[in-house]
Amino acid sequence: MKTEIEYKINEIFETLQGEGSFTGQPSIFIRLQGCPVECSWCDTKHTWEVLLEKEVERKNIISKKEESDYWGSFTVEQLKALFIEKGYQAKHIVITGGEPCMYDLTPLCSFFESHNYSCQVETSGTFEIQVSDKCWVTVSPKINMRGGYKVLKSALLRANEIKHPVATEQHVEDLKALLSEHKIVNKKIYIQPISQKKRATDLAIKSCIENNWRLSVQVHKYIGIE
Ligand code: SF4
Repeated sequence: MKTEIEYKINEIFETLQGEGSFTGQPSIFIRLQGCPVECSWCDTKHTWEVLLEKEVERKNIISKKEESDYWGSFTVEQLKALFIEKGYQAKHIVITGGEPCMYDLTPLCSFFESHNYSCQVETSGTFEIQVSDKCWVTVSPKINMRGGYKVLKSALLRANEIKHPVATEQHVEDLKALLSEHKIVNKKIYIQPISQKKRATDLAIKSCIENNWRLSVQVHKYIGIE
């Protein structure tokens, strides 16, 4: 008997995509629970653990007003019903986390693409990417993080864009070494300052110009939206 996948979801909200190629695009964000990568500067640490005692009813996820490690289980049908109930207008879905590629996302992408949505996944590149062929894949490679996971060549090859957060020259060198090691060429590369501080932004601008990469500046943080 076919059992329908239930996704463990931390939050769902509609806003504008603030990063990368889809900057400015109205989007429904689905934040999945769980991530073992352990980036020291992670701003969603509340998504790391999937604690069984933190499961709550779906209505509590829908009405979340602040960050928490509570999560709820949703099937794709339940997600679509929720989008309608909430009156969401966006037709672009951003699947993020946590590390969303801990889940098989193919059923989710296929279902929503068959209902005229487009899908995008944002991943660290440390898990095999299981999505539909049409899904836009953003790999933000997390290199040498505490969790000990390696960025996979298969993830870099599947990426439609590679988005790399930088604060120091070492971060730029890490990206260059990764691309060189896996012979990754002809990819759309975005460099994103880790903070909105001038030093990080200047470094990002400099590395974009030197390497013919593009700048991504987390527009949502500048205009004060989620
Ligand atoms: S991969 Fe993403 S969610 Fe996971 S620790 Fe790193 S920044 Fe946080």
